[in-house]
Amino acid sequence: MKRKVIAALLATVTILSFTGCGKFTCDMCGEEKSGKKYQEELFGETITLCNDCYKGLEDLADMLD
Ligand SMILES: [Zn+2]
Repeated sequence: MKRKVIAALLATVTILSFTGCGKFTCDMCGEEKSGKKYQEELFGETITLCNDCYKGLEDLADMLD
């Protein structure tokens, strides 16, 4: 991923909203997941992340610090 994209992702992490349980498709890994669902706005689009991908994003943020 490009650094700019990562920066944009990190910038949007603070506006994460939690939604209820249920099945959803993660926009990052493309898998159907159930459980915690994270949504964030990126470039005017709402993307849906599963818990695993969200954690991965956080790890990425730690690495960049
Ligand atoms: Zn995922």
